[in-house]
Amino acid sequence: MKILVINCGSSSLKYQLIDMENESVMAKGLCERIGIEGSKLTHKANGKEMVVEQAMPAHTEAIKLVMQALVDPEYGVIKDTKEISAVGHRVLHGGKVYSDSIVVDEDVKRVIRECFDLGPLHNPANLMGIEACEAAMPGTPNVAVWDTGFGMKMPEKAYLYAIPYEYYDKYSIRRYGFHGTSHLFVSGEVLKFAELDPEKGKVIVCHLGNGASISASIGGKCVDTSMGLTPLEGLIMGTRSGDVDPAVVQFICNKEGKDVNEVLNILNKKSGILGMSDGISSDFRDVGKAAEEGNHHAQVALDAFIYRVAKYIGAYTAAMNGVDAIAFTAGVGENDIESRKKICEYLGYLGVEIDDEANNCRGKVQMISTPNSKVKVMVYPTNEELAIARETERLVK
Ligand code: ADP
Repeated sequence: MKILVINCGSSSLKYQLIDMENESVMAKGLCERIGIEGSKLTHKANGKEMVVEQAMPAHTEAIKLVMQALVDPEYGVIKDTKEISAVGHRVLHGGKVYSDSIVVDEDVKRVIRECFDLGPLHNPANLMGIEACEAAMPGTPNVAVWDTGFGMKMPEKAYLYAIPYEYYDKYSIRRYGFHGTSHLFVSGEVLKFAELDPEKGKVIVCHLGNGASISASIGGKCVDTSMGLTPLEGLIMGTRSGDVDPAVVQFICNKEGKDVNEVLNILNKKSGILGMSDGISSDFRDVGKAAEEGNHHAQVALDAFIYRVAKYIGAYTAAMNGVDAIAFTAGVGENDIESRKKICEYLGYLGVEIDDEANNCRGKVQMISTPNSKVKVMVYPTNEELAIARETERLVK
């Protein structure tokens, strides 16, 4: 079975065609600047790359170009788009209604639309992607895989904010959690790789990238996760503050004469390691380099990032009354040897022991704890596209 995986942003569309026989990527690519001047498709298959510069006023045109690329005599990988059994879509928000992946029908589209206010940047684009595929491939099923799906399984005590209940009732204000497909994929893989009880294994996944979140799960079912109503809550990220006292918002508003939207924009786009490093960069490599060169702000930003991750690991260990395995994933988690080591230095009380030689790895599945370590610690590269393809195959088989 061949599954096309689509991830639409407001002006972009990423895709992968996956052959589920061996879970291999047959082709992948990116449409950029959709709806803006200078639209471009970059398509990669069989070690070759094709670039198409052609106007894409909307996602419908982008999908058409993707279809053409997939059947292209030279750069294509299939003869006919009918070979695509189904399309799996990453959809940001299913609100309170959906957590499990689902074959798209009119009702699913209605819910995606109703959640535009919960995911204003992503849900409209996700819906455009679905409708573009319906138009380009009539009769081919589309599956929605929710980025909030994993977090929707949290218990009430973890997802409710301690604010008047009526706001949950009226406006669905709760903690949702994001990076759901990544946490689903990595926690499931870790249960197998670390040979844990598939029903009872207690796993903490640290998804540390430009956006960062952490989850606790038992038997693959979410117990807690760090992002909230929006991706702003939780860990310190590239540009997001993570947890702050909400009174900070009012304080900055009053001092700087800004409104709430402006301050929220600062917390989302100008904070995190970018803000803490006093503007050096949102990229961990740049901040790491500045810290090495002796920049104090850069060093504190990295220390604070690491400290916050370690605090969450402690909290989630308490939430689960123990932890069997901790996994690092995403850009920083998969590649930053030093950050992993420093986070684990906080975890001696759990009996965590890291093997420095094993930890000296990047971007591959690897156990990095010693055989004596009481908790298994590993690097496990995330694969959100494969997670979406697997969910899609499961639903249409
Ligand atoms: P996102 O998908 O949220 O945009 P990624 O998961 O791609 O983010 O992670 C990007 C981050 O990973 C960047 O801040 C980058 O600096 C960091 N990163 C990538 N490689 C390394 C490395 N070798 N050492 C430290 N950080 C790294």
